[in-house]
Amino acid sequence: MTAPSTPELVLDAGTELGEGPIWDAVRGRLLFLDIMRGHVHEYDPAGGQHRIVEVGQPVGAITPTVRGDWVVAAKRGFFRVDPASGRTTLIAEVEAELDANRMNDGYVDAQGRFWAGTMDMTERSPAGALYRLDPDHSVHRVLPGATISNGVDWSPDRTRMYYIDTPTGRVDILDFDETRGAVSNRRPFATIPGEAGHPDGLIVDADGFVWVGLWGGGALHRYAPDGIRDRQISFPVSNVTKCAFGGPTLTDLYVTTAFIGLDAAARAQQPLAGGLFRLRPGVTGRPPNRFGG
Ligand code: BGC
Ligand code: CA
Repeated sequence: MTAPSTPELVLDAGTELGEGPIWDAVRGRLLFLDIMRGHVHEYDPAGGQHRIVEVGQPVGAITPTVRGDWVVAAKRGFFRVDPASGRTTLIAEVEAELDANRMNDGYVDAQGRFWAGTMDMTERSPAGALYRLDPDHSVHRVLPGATISNGVDWSPDRTRMYYIDTPTGRVDILDFDETRGAVSNRRPFATIPGEAGHPDGLIVDADGFVWVGLWGGGALHRYAPDGIRDRQISFPVSNVTKCAFGGPTLTDLYVTTAFIGLDAAARAQQPLAGGLFRLRPGVTGRPPNRFGG
């Protein structure tokens, strides 16, 4: 196996809460977010162009759609976004009655449904949930009781779903019924001791191994399908949020980071916090699904 390469800074993005990286294979761009600022970043690694699209409210997850626009999970719910202007159109409100909540991480399944969760912005109350937005724009609450709903992705055979509610300190695994878009039999897949950080975003690679960002842990972990950790990759910043495979062969691993919550001393020690990193771990990703497909 190829030795993991060292993460290198590819873009000094300055994201306060850099999150939600996803490769747009049609346009050859990486999308990622700065959640509380409501910024969508679009980065073209081949040409080096980088722009920011302002959505006008906190934005926790984004996906390209089969129509060619974007759908976001934002403060008030699901919206379509016009990539050129940033103009948003409401699809469906989510927990609009809970002012302390916002939407957070999400990902699209092979049927084109967008699964995205919510969180209590004070990170204390289990008032959030994981939702499923179907291509017909109906919204379904799937897993209630989440405090910081975070990473979600599926096994390559699409029979299992991985899911993180950060304060549990676990990556969970559930049986997945793809036809119905239903999950069952939730159980722990991997448990992360507090001193290693808090599990944040996740992604499943082409071999079915699970990559997890460690908030406060300065690392990415990779877990085998049996839940045993097989790699740990260290970063020069503590808040490693999520990764996404990109590039023409899906072999570049892009990693978002955050500087929110770091005091002045920590920020001085981690001048690259908030940057976008890349490494070539010698494994391949899977192309992300598009909403509506
Ligand atoms: C959330 C942050 C939170 C972090 C660690 C992220 O997904 O957006 O607000 O602090 O997870 O729990
Ligand atoms: Ca996250």
